[in-house]
Amino acid sequence: MKPSFHTKLLNGPFEDPGLYVRIIREGRGLLFDLGFTKNLSVRDILKITDIFVSHTHIDHFTGFDNILRICLKREAPLRLYGPEGFIKCVAGKLSGYTWNLTGDYPLVIEVSEVSGDVVKKAVFRADKSFRLEESGKSPFTGDLVKEPLFSVSAAILDHQIPCLAFSLREDYHINIDKAELDRLNLSVGPWLGEFKTAIRESRTDNLFLVEGKQYRMEDIRDAAKITAGQKISYVVDALGSDENRNKIIELVKDSHILYIEAYFLNEDRTRAGERYHLTAKEAGRIAGEANVQRLEVIHFSPRYTDGPERLVNEAENEFKRWKARDNIFMENTISP
Ligand SMILES: [Zn+2]
Ligand SMILES: [Zn+2]
Repeated sequence: MKPSFHTKLLNGPFEDPGLYVRIIREGRGLLFDLGFTKNLSVRDILKITDIFVSHTHIDHFTGFDNILRICLKREAPLRLYGPEGFIKCVAGKLSGYTWNLTGDYPLVIEVSEVSGDVVKKAVFRADKSFRLEESGKSPFTGDLVKEPLFSVSAAILDHQIPCLAFSLREDYHINIDKAELDRLNLSVGPWLGEFKTAIRESRTDNLFLVEGKQYRMEDIRDAAKITAGQKISYVVDALGSDENRNKIIELVKDSHILYIEAYFLNEDRTRAGERYHLTAKEAGRIAGEANVQRLEVIHFSPRYTDGPERLVNEAENEFKRWKARDNIFMENTISP
């Protein structure tokens, strides 16, 4: 399967967290968390359309200024999503600067704040000196973004304050069957992009021009094979409670990649509880129980700088243990 998403962590596990996801087909980028963003190129930053912020502790929000600085003269809007109190935090960042000479700048920042079962919306425009304009509310049903190619959903976790976990899901993936193309005597070309879009939009009346010859959708439909889409999840800063664990598992179930914090070792679990963070062991268990394909642990406490592999190993071992348990459970339920 040719992937639709390409992921890149902004920083190492002891630095401020952030995950950049490139949507290959659309040449655009999504950003999960706004830690230190100086390692992102200007090119990558300008492609960002949507930024999902887990919470506004400084290590997750300090990169806002750098993104704003680079996007300031951009035509396309910048959409931000965050937890309860987020609009006030964005307004606070913006009001820290003087905006008397931006009257002809086109940038519009659209902010969505998940507050319980409601998403509050606000807009900040460069030509209005980035003053807060409230722009309505909608019910929060779990989804923050729903587009033809992908959706992003969120869960509200307890980190003493509300903290959002995110999951990016491609609804399904369209693969082109090369053997079927050969059988139909069709060559590979730019028409395939249009063909995939027509399938995504369930259009059947299109005509496709391939090397001067016209084809109807029903003649060539078999060249496309539909498989499950990619799923990538991002979870940071959460208490290791049963409630959080269940919410995370439901959100990230069957992810291809789960990026999840492993802030403390299990031996320091009392401290982890006091700081409302997950341990590596808890992260591994969640990944195993949620049956994810690949576990990527991120966001480590600086107390382990001498031995980060201890966090990785603890999480991996627990991940494997819970995955194996899952298999054993499956075998037992299937066999008579
Ligand atoms: Zn935090
Ligand atoms: Zn953090």
